[in-house]
Amino acid sequence: MSAIDEAKSYLGQLAPRISAKDRRVARVIRGLLADREATCTWTDDPEGIWHTDCGEAFEVHAGSPGQNGLRYCCFCGRKLAEGST
Ligand SMILES: [Zn+2]
Repeated sequence: MSAIDEAKSYLGQLAPRISAKDRRVARVIRGLLADREATCTWTDDPEGIWHTDCGEAFEVHAGSPGQNGLRYCCFCGRKLAEGST
């Protein structure tokens, strides 16, 4: 189980036993954890331009974004996933 899954599970177990105000805080934290897991898929075109889920384009001269050490989308901050062409 990842650290994020553990945190989500813990917050879920906590929810029935805490005040309404704390439940609101827990909901905000769960939302942030969900955002952390979301991905932005980059797909390359024949010219080697990678088009992102969030509507941007990025040119990689050699290899894929992952092969160049990119783990997060530099435009929206989500975790980067490479799509197939
Ligand atoms: Zn993005």
